Amino acid sequence: MSARVLVVDDILPNVKLLEAKLSCEYYEVITATSGIEALEKVENENPDIVLLDIMMPGMDGFEVCERIKANPEKSHIPVVMVTALTDIQDKVRGLEAGADDFLSKPINDIALMARVRSLARLKMAMDEWKLRENSANQFGVVSEQSNLMKEPIEGARILLIEDKDFERDKISNALSTDLNIVIDVDNGLKAMELVASQEFDIIVVSLNLKNEDGLRLCSHLRSNERTRSLPIVMIAGEEDMPRVAHGLEIGAHDYILRPLEKNELRARVRTQVRRKRFQDRLRSTYEISLSMALTDSLTGLYNRRYLEVHLEKLIENNAKSNKALGVIMMDIDNFKAVNDTHGHNVGDEILKTFADRIKDNLRSFDLVARLGGEEFVAILPDVSPERAYLVAERLRKSIADTPIACKVEGGALQITTSVGGAIINNGGHSIPTILERADKCLYEAKHAGRNCTVFENKGKLNPDDYIEEKRNFYDVPDATD
Ligand code: GH3
Ligand code: MG
Ligand code: MG
Repeated sequence: MSARVLVVDDILPNVKLLEAKLSCEYYEVITATSGIEALEKVENENPDIVLLDIMMPGMDGFEVCERIKANPEKSHIPVVMVTALTDIQDKVRGLEAGADDFLSKPINDIALMARVRSLARLKMAMDEWKLRENSANQFGVVSEQSNLMKEPIEGARILLIEDKDFERDKISNALSTDLNIVIDVDNGLKAMELVASQEFDIIVVSLNLKNEDGLRLCSHLRSNERTRSLPIVMIAGEEDMPRVAHGLEIGAHDYILRPLEKNELRARVRTQVRRKRFQDRLRSTYEISLSMALTDSLTGLYNRRYLEVHLEKLIENNAKSNKALGVIMMDIDNFKAVNDTHGHNVGDEILKTFADRIKDNLRSFDLVARLGGEEFVAILPDVSPERAYLVAERLRKSIADTPIACKVEGGALQITTSVGGAIINNGGHSIPTILERADKCLYEAKHAGRNCTVFENKGKLNPDDYIEEKRNFYDVPDATD
């Protein structure tokens, strides 16, 4: 995978060294020799990863990192601090400034490449979600961009897998801050059982388990649907570096080497929790925006946009399989008078209940959409004309037979709807013509006195012919299943 890496260091030979190493692995490298220049390149050259020196004259690496992370457009770009500082205080400070990792000079090549590769992958996933967030913004659903650094880090549910009692207690204690809940187990099987039934924010796993391979567990967690995107932090010894690199390769997010330093452990876990929550937020914003873009907020039914896309597919299938498609159009009778007499809020209550009744009287795979105002359409895939008539009458009666409860004197209003229908028998129809055909029948139903059903080529239905209890074509699957 290729990625654009920004290397920042005030000492030119350091920049050249990193540039050479990364170029060998086919990364595209851009460079900066001061904090200010680094920020400028972040702004204008869209790096995927920033490798950032800390000690620089003028603006130091901590400040550069903080500034990148404070910018909602850029906060998701991974930053790796590269430094000769070995003081744990500095590491923690860097992580708190929002850095994703810390590499010590002289740089271990395995650690560098494994880290850059895994962050490049992470960045790609983030980019995809950011893009979707942008589309959501265009729909006007979310007004603010999410910002990584604003995500809370408290109250994380942490699953710890470590079989040495002493180590387990130590790690568990270190992580039991920030209102976290740490659940620890001593083997992978118990861990897999737990993740199947409980939600976690992060998994911390030892690569030095006695009877099993921690890496295999990482790989299981990666292939499990429920845990696929959960952050995994590996704990390992210095001598395990090749396995750590392998772990990053198969999708673990971070690692920490023994002897464990509790502040560093905490800071790394916080970083991962924050990132997970950020990603969850982007995903849910996207899902909400998608559903808002495709459904009608008052009734929860699909909107015209969705209907058109979906109907296109139904028409195609319908042509291939030679099955008939029923199109039933409904328009509430004299609805303007309801609004004029009782107000818009009562009108809205009626629309909601109307929608619920229509949905309740159809199969789960029938499609109901609100076309606008008080006009609705139901699409019945794979239906006989007889059944379509029956269903249309059932829908009409579901409205006419029971007054709709709403905030008016008497507590309910008698509402009726007119219904028009058409049966689409073979493909080659355009969506507008299909809807027009049913609409034409609806118009006839209005003219025939409202509260009645008119079908194309069939005329006005006689309600007595379609009282369900009297019918005996139950050989057809029940339309409410
Ligand atoms: P007809 O029987 O011929 O269909 O008469 P109608 O009064 O139902 O038809 P018309 O098209 O004249 O009026 C539709 C009314 O629906 C007008 C508008 O006030 C109302 N309406 C449309 N959308 C909404 C809505 O979202 N909420 C409410 N409360 N009313 C709506
Ligand atoms: Mg109407
Ligand atoms: Mg109307």
